[in-house]
Amino acid sequence: MDKIEHIGIAVKDLEASNTLFEKLLGVPHYKVEEVASEGVKTSFFKSGPNKIELLEATKPDSPIAKYLEKKGEGIHHVAFAVEDIVSEIERLKGEGFVVLNETPKKGADNKLVAFLHPKGTNGMLVELCQEIKEG
Ligand code: ZN
Repeated sequence: MDKIEHIGIAVKDLEASNTLFEKLLGVPHYKVEEVASEGVKTSFFKSGPNKIELLEATKPDSPIAKYLEKKGEGIHHVAFAVEDIVSEIERLKGEGFVVLNETPKKGADNKLVAFLHPKGTNGMLVELCQEIKEG
């Protein structure tokens, strides 16, 4: 895996959190994107070379809604950039990690993504993400 690509934070109210993180980081968010298939609306901030993704549920049965219900707001996942998500999934499966979606799916911010089950990673939900290259 390469660097940490972003940290995902589950929030109840994206608009209010955008204002809060704008004050915290001193920069406005640069993108808002809805991923309808996941029932989530996201916004992104840059903090130096790093990124923060805020996640708000758009429907009551989405994974983020369930997370908020169980655990409340806070750090939801850590995303790592990978060059080749398919071979990285194979490598991690070989190491015994449980991959929640073995076929990468399209996530926010022009990425192919896959998640590892937090039970196998000391409770940390890990997202792998690979930049989708044009053409
Ligand atoms: Zn993410």
